[in-house]
Amino acid sequence: MADKKHTIPLEGVLSSNSNDWDSAKSTHFESGRNINQVKVHGLREKIQARRKSLNDSLEGEVRAFLINEDELHTYDDLTKVNPVTPTTVLNCLQARYRARVFYTHAGCTLVALNPFHPVPQLYSLDVMKEYHTAPKPQEFKPHIFIVAEAAYRNVQGQVEPTNQSLVVSGESGAGKTWTSRCLMKYYATVAASSQTCQDTVERIEKRVLDSNPIMEAFGNACTLRNSNSSRFGKYIQLQLNRSQLLVGASVQTYLLEKTRVAFQAANERNFHIFYQMMKWATEQQRQEWKMPHDQRFNWLPNVDRILEEDCFEETLEAMDHLGINSDKQALIFRILAGILHLGNVAFNPPTDESQPCDLEEESKVFLRTTAELLGIPVEELQSCLRVRALKAGRQSTLLKPCSRAECSVRRDCLAKVIYAQLFDWMVSFINKSMCADNSNWCNFIGLLDVYGFECFQKNNLEQLCINYANEKLQQHFVGHYLKAQQEEYVAEGLEWSFVQYQDNQRCLDLIEGSPTSVFSLLNEVCRLNRASDTKQFMVRLEKELSSNDQMSWDKVSPQPHFIVSHYAGKVSYQIEGMMEKNKDPVPPELIRLLQQSEDPLMHSLFADTDAEGEAARGHNKVVTVVSKFKNSLESLMKILHSTTPHYTRCIKPNPDCRPLTFKKEEVITQLEACGIVETINISAAGFPIRIPYASFLQRYGLITHTRTPAQLTNQNGFESGDKDSLGSAVMDVLRVVLRGHSPDPQLLSATATHSSL
Ligand code: ADP
Ligand code: MG
Repeated sequence: MADKKHTIPLEGVLSSNSNDWDSAKSTHFESGRNINQVKVHGLREKIQARRKSLNDSLEGEVRAFLINEDELHTYDDLTKVNPVTPTTVLNCLQARYRARVFYTHAGCTLVALNPFHPVPQLYSLDVMKEYHTAPKPQEFKPHIFIVAEAAYRNVQGQVEPTNQSLVVSGESGAGKTWTSRCLMKYYATVAASSQTCQDTVERIEKRVLDSNPIMEAFGNACTLRNSNSSRFGKYIQLQLNRSQLLVGASVQTYLLEKTRVAFQAANERNFHIFYQMMKWATEQQRQEWKMPHDQRFNWLPNVDRILEEDCFEETLEAMDHLGINSDKQALIFRILAGILHLGNVAFNPPTDESQPCDLEEESKVFLRTTAELLGIPVEELQSCLRVRALKAGRQSTLLKPCSRAECSVRRDCLAKVIYAQLFDWMVSFINKSMCADNSNWCNFIGLLDVYGFECFQKNNLEQLCINYANEKLQQHFVGHYLKAQQEEYVAEGLEWSFVQYQDNQRCLDLIEGSPTSVFSLLNEVCRLNRASDTKQFMVRLEKELSSNDQMSWDKVSPQPHFIVSHYAGKVSYQIEGMMEKNKDPVPPELIRLLQQSEDPLMHSLFADTDAEGEAARGHNKVVTVVSKFKNSLESLMKILHSTTPHYTRCIKPNPDCRPLTFKKEEVITQLEACGIVETINISAAGFPIRIPYASFLQRYGLITHTRTPAQLTNQNGFESGDKDSLGSAVMDVLRVVLRGHSPDPQLLSATATHSSL
């Protein structure tokens, strides 16, 4: 395919002296296309000869035609910026942002720039209605509602109904969750099934929307990047009946960052729900939860910061609406209060080495309160935290005092396992409350809001999983985008004979492939469960994957790090700690302790947990974190593949969440990371520059004195949108320019964009 001779798209010729051409050219070469240089020069010289009498320079003229800086903000689709290069795309987005235009198409993707500033007029009910009722909403200004409406109309399908997926990506704080909420509101409005009882809690639309504040209270936290950062991934399916009305929803979550319960980085916070309780509890609740106003909790840093996310009332109302009644709420908050008290339990090294760690008087009080709130016996709690039970043979167990550090690990582990289980319980409760009966719905629109690509100073297993998910999504996107391009070229009458695109399969093979990959080695080493896990893993990686060109070693870092070449850039992963995170072991005695709880909710949270199985995680066939994640991602990909996807890439225009501030360096990095630059490259590998027939004639018609589109309309009485007539006028120009050459039909077609005519 790459060997085939290709005709250079005309527009490439026209901009051949500009800087942008250099980058346009490089994308051509990088993508392995064979550019016909002879034709490039021949054509340009001929045009220059014709224009010699004119004083203005051709290049200047052409450049002005291709990129008119003053008009940059008017480009509604980035693939139509001429030429398409990262620089021109960036300038265009900046110009639009300055003009307060936040949405721009990029082929089949929508780019959403975060205004960090309320723009209510953009999302009003009237605007929703406008997009919903328009015969061709795609002709309106780019908007998230165009995507929403396209998916909604697509569900009906031309031949048969098809499920849709809206994939929203971007880095933390870019606006994914905001966009997902906005999409949910759109469907809850335009597809409302409850015409009557508008404000009653029975309304399914209300229940679906109310799932947001609950899940955000329990799963979002204030981080350095976003004061309302989602610490889990989410795929929500909005269920539609035969009349395309919203009749229910179900939600699937991914990778809750449960470590946050017991550890918050400097200047970050725990999950919002704890702050909501701490700030808005009634006096009675404070007594019950032993949370007086002045009580300080180690796991509740930055409690004095006021955030709008700390709205307890909204969470409680949403819980009411979803059927989490006040009795259940009381049980949930008791458990959460118990977790907070547990965080204040600290250990001292024992005076006698053979004895368990000591607890100071204050810690003893916190421990008692924890036990009381969690409904478990305090003595057993104390012993589980400080003493490890080791299996000695089949029957007997050996008790071994834990070191101070081990005690803290067990304490944190207890908090994490309770919180994660509570979160899952909440999600399944929400699902039961929102999900329609199978017989009542037939199609769905899925909204995917997952962590974007991450590259921090320190990256570990969490980042590897997140970036792996992003690789999967990127592969799905590229496949879909190429297909869309192919369809466009077929519609243009062009032969589909190019774009041998280098996809990211090799990177995915490195991470998850079989028989040997980072994940498979990680799991193998975890199963062996030796003390020298880290070393083992490093040796195996070195031995079995060093020759893989997608992986290299970080020679700068003093500790062992391996680097993966992701589509969005290289990321260096720390090996230390990876095995432990992958095993994520929970001591069986902790699970058994929780199973004894007198608290009915706590009891039910762990009723079905296999204590030994949890403990054995990582030893044998029991699932590790990466294998569990890989499985859940594979089911997600299966669903995505079975649907028609729509992509929205959210961009964070500045790192400080400042309103209406656009930082170029920030944006370009994200354009790379979320695949827009890739999209541009793919589109450059096809025909990067497209000039509508009419504009082409307007500008170049004088070369042959060919009539302008307006003249054509006047004299011949046909519309300037008549593609055939315009097309033949374009041919006239090309015939003169290429005297002696017959204009290549591909060249001609490349100048046409059906959407612009
Ligand atoms: P992400 O989910 O990508 O981490 P969020 O959706 O939480 O990011 O967005 C971060 C913040 O940006 C939101 O809390 C909101 O204040 C602001 N924001 C995002 N999108 C918009 C928008 N379209 N209009 C106004 N503010 C927005
Ligand atoms: Mg989010």
